[in-house]
Amino acid sequence: MADRQAKIYVLDSTVFLEGYVSLFANKPSATTFQVVEEIRSGQPKLQLEAALRSGWLAQTQPSAESVKKVAGLRGQTQEKLSTADLSVIALAIDLKDKGKAVVVVSDDYHVQNLCKIIGIEYLAVSKGGIEKKFSWRRKCRGCGRLVREEVCPFCGSETVFVPGEI
Ligand SMILES: [Zn+2]
Repeated sequence: MADRQAKIYVLDSTVFLEGYVSLFANKPSATTFQVVEEIRSGQPKLQLEAALRSGWLAQTQPSAESVKKVAGLRGQTQEKLSTADLSVIALAIDLKDKGKAVVVVSDDYHVQNLCKIIGIEYLAVSKGGIEKKFSWRRKCRGCGRLVREEVCPFCGSETVFVPGEI
């Protein structure tokens, strides 16, 4: 397992619309042009633009091949996916094919479900997903300290997520 490899978070529209984008600040993250197009106004748009400017969020175009693949699966599974949703999953497939550790972040049940079918890791934004995950910390496997980093700043060991109650 390449568990030390930094994860790339692929953010869908719900992350921006529900105001969760700041949770990913300075984590390698990506979204698609189609999602960017969907976020047209207000605070979500300002936050999206700020994230793009600061460089930790990339906007990119998924390959036509992956888009086709997801569109085909959508047909088979009858999932209701918008073009933007579809592009997010396609981008995740592209990154995964390049050997990256990818996590799709979405509050959309249909997106999550399709990720499950394809075998792509996903994280729910609310409803006990991200809120739970990000309200807590990570625990160092080495020294046991609670930290926010993936690698412990005190002893350099790997850290693991600690759920909610902290
Ligand atoms: Zn440590």
